[in-house]
Amino acid sequence: MTRAKPPTSDLARLHSLYDRIAEQGLCTRPGADPNHWFPEREPGRNAETQRRFYEQAAAARCFDCPAKTACRVTAEIEESELLLEHGYTPHGIRAGLAPWVRLDLLIASNKASNVEEEAA
Ligand code: SF4
Repeated sequence: MTRAKPPTSDLARLHSLYDRIAEQGLCTRPGADPNHWFPEREPGRNAETQRRFYEQAAAARCFDCPAKTACRVTAEIEESELLLEHGYTPHGIRAGLAPWVRLDLLIASNKASNVEEEAA
């Protein structure tokens, strides 16, 4: 079974969330460097250390962001639909989370939805 299509038909809600991110997001403020939300791999670090540094950077970049909840919701909606329909995998930092963390959450959410559908 596949998960039902996410509620992207609620465009007014999404636009409201986008507006909140544009107005309040730390990454959207004047002078913010977008590259900080797409950290480069540091040479010489092993994979585990790289992931740990990335996750720490993600948490730090978004720690005080007043738009974090809106960011988390939009990321989940967008990335869920893109993953299910196009095989897209998340990239970059969103809502204080590394892309593989968001992917794990999406997969877990999808499995939970499938279990709920099968139980219905
Ligand atoms: S939570 Fe992070 S990625 Fe999301 S809007 Fe705020 S600073 Fe940007």
